[in-house]
Amino acid sequence: MIRPILKYGDATLHEPARPVASISMEIQQLIDDMVQTMYAAPGIGLAAPQVGVPLRIIVVDVSLGHDPNALMTFVNPEFVERGGVQHEDEGCLSVPGFNATVVRPARAILKGLDRSGQPQQKEAIGLLARAFQHEMDHLDGMLFVDRLRGIKRELIVRKIRKLTRAGKW
Ligand SMILES: [Zn+2]
Repeated sequence: MIRPILKYGDATLHEPARPVASISMEIQQLIDDMVQTMYAAPGIGLAAPQVGVPLRIIVVDVSLGHDPNALMTFVNPEFVERGGVQHEDEGCLSVPGFNATVVRPARAILKGLDRSGQPQQKEAIGLLARAFQHEMDHLDGMLFVDRLRGIKRELIVRKIRKLTRAGKW
């Protein structure tokens, strides 16, 4: 089932998510729905808070579904290591119509459980490392807009407020 994606300003997006206690049938269903919602958007990653569920689950597929081995699900993910620096343009399904250059580490190693509850660890560089970090931010209630400084952030926030007032957000 495709679930509605919350937009910047919705409380669930701006609060830290809770760890998953056990991978129940409901969690399996949530993961299936997240994958379907991500592909339909389309996007390269989605975090559970984006569909209104404040739990620590992310799905990532930088191939947008073209490579059957590229889909990754992490439950209760944590960074093992991060290093380097990359500056790239970034957007978010919860902030449609906006993007900005975000500075992030160039490499990341992420560990967590896979969708069957098995421990896994993945090493990423470039776009995948960026996707990991973007989705991990969602689990801490942070959006890419919150990583921008000064006028860049202010401009986006102001436009979103304007759209919200006009009922177009
Ligand atoms: Zn996002």
